[in-house]
Amino acid sequence: MVSLRYDRGPSVLTLICPYCSTQLADDFECLAPNHLDTLGCENTRCAQRFAYLIRECLKCGEESVFSWKVMPKPPEMSGLACQHCGAALNEADQET
Ligand SMILES: [Zn+2]
Ligand SMILES: [Zn+2]
Repeated sequence: MVSLRYDRGPSVLTLICPYCSTQLADDFECLAPNHLDTLGCENTRCAQRFAYLIRECLKCGEESVFSWKVMPKPPEMSGLACQHCGAALNEADQET
């Protein structure tokens, strides 16, 4: 078990812009998990808007961050896997 990963306190999620691969690190405490939303890239030379989704894994409890250039379709959403333990994140409790 690795115990050094979150010794800085609150977890900081990193969003990666699908256009320019800029890492948008922030504490997304204001961003609700399991809610598909869009965000503008902070890179001023890019400034693209992309879709992102934060899913909390029911198995390991870690959050995975996904990003897309366009809004993903339900089949794409149901094929997501946890970026930490690889468990399927297809417990779709999407409220639309
Ligand atoms: Zn970008
Ligand atoms: Zn997991």
